[in-house]
Amino acid sequence: MGSDKTARTTAAPAWEAEYDLVRELLAQKFMRLSFPARLETELRERMQRRAITTLRENYWMLFIMAGAVALVILMQFTVAGNWIGPIEDLQVMLRMGAIAAAALLIMTICAKASALDPYYDYYVAPVAITLLVVLAVAPAFLLDETLRQRSTYVVIYTLLILYGVANMPLARAALIGFGSMGISALVASRLDVRFDWGLFLQYFLLTNLVGLGNGYVLEVRERRLFLQSRLLELEKRQLNKLSERLVQLSREDGLTGLANRRHFNDTFLLEWERARRERHSLALVFADVDHFKAYNDNHGHLEGDRALAAVAAVLQRVATRPGDLAARYGGEEFVLLLPNTDLDGAGEVAEQLLRAVDAKALPHKASSVGKHVTISIGVAAVVPDVHLAPAQLIDRADTALYQAKESGRHRVVLCDRC
Ligand code: GH3
Ligand code: MG
Ligand code: MG
Repeated sequence: MGSDKTARTTAAPAWEAEYDLVRELLAQKFMRLSFPARLETELRERMQRRAITTLRENYWMLFIMAGAVALVILMQFTVAGNWIGPIEDLQVMLRMGAIAAAALLIMTICAKASALDPYYDYYVAPVAITLLVVLAVAPAFLLDETLRQRSTYVVIYTLLILYGVANMPLARAALIGFGSMGISALVASRLDVRFDWGLFLQYFLLTNLVGLGNGYVLEVRERRLFLQSRLLELEKRQLNKLSERLVQLSREDGLTGLANRRHFNDTFLLEWERARRERHSLALVFADVDHFKAYNDNHGHLEGDRALAAVAAVLQRVATRPGDLAARYGGEEFVLLLPNTDLDGAGEVAEQLLRAVDAKALPHKASSVGKHVTISIGVAAVVPDVHLAPAQLIDRADTALYQAKESGRHRVVLCDRC
């Protein structure tokens, strides 16, 4: 029982601490976008895995969306298949399209190569920033004013994808969004072109801010889902542990830690069937402590419990083979179940057990047999067949034990037609 308690007190805190932490985080009214270290790392890994999978599986949607945007812009400046704007603008537009296609292609190829998964941040961020800067600055080279204004939509779509569907932590998306805004401004200020700063600030800043709001809502939802699944996982783990413990408790004798009577009965029947099928001998060794009532009376019940635990430890030590089972049959009676063992083999184990208990030399003040705690043993073995019932083997071992007691105790009696 003592060991049960220590198992419970050492196992609980780690689990409970994490459980409490997860519940506390879930109860927050305004969820902060950062968890304590280990949870945060796990969440980030999960988000990154999902981001990569999304890109890997849905890259074609990005290409279709980009193609559709390009087509709509081109169609507005085309009549019967002919470009009606300045021809230089067509060249600028085509170059922008080529750079966008190249950026999408690089990201898709990198996402497809799973060896690059750990470097996701390193390829997505630079490619996304480059793409945004090109899309924001290149229209400055367009001659047509309308075309110049409409090309801002492309940056807006790209930013919305970045904040909304890229599955990126908000902080990183914001870094890319605001970072590319800053770099675009820097590049534009260095270029000798007419740049509409008012328009630029308006659409870039506004989209970034809207993106931040959306991104926050999405990330909070992502974090909640993560915590909830974590909670379920923790509860499941705890339930499994508890049910394992319950199974163990239902099979174990509380005082000695040996198999209890119920577990012995179940195993005995299983082994009986196996021995019958395989025509093997099955042996039982019944051991009973001599004059134990007197021991209790003289040494006290507590000391009696200790003596029983000591005898049980010896029994466990003697049951060496994998199939052997040492059990407490009841009170101060123990049993060894020895599969695939004949009467002589079981007799040897019994002698060994008797001597090992003697060697413990537990003082016994009131025994007529000796100065120490001793045991009497009855042994029986059979090769089960259809004419025999399992209870008959138990009866035989019991009878042999009775004979051991009758003939003076502290001895082994084999049931050879007993
Ligand atoms: P024998 O040599 O004939 O076996 O005599 P005995 O006194 O051992 O046999 P008896 O069946 O008269 O008494 C068994 C005693 O074992 C009585 C009971 O108090 C004691 N006992 C049974 N279970 C426990 C236990 O869990 N703890 C303690 N301390 N004593 C127990
Ligand atoms: Mg008894
Ligand atoms: Mg006894």
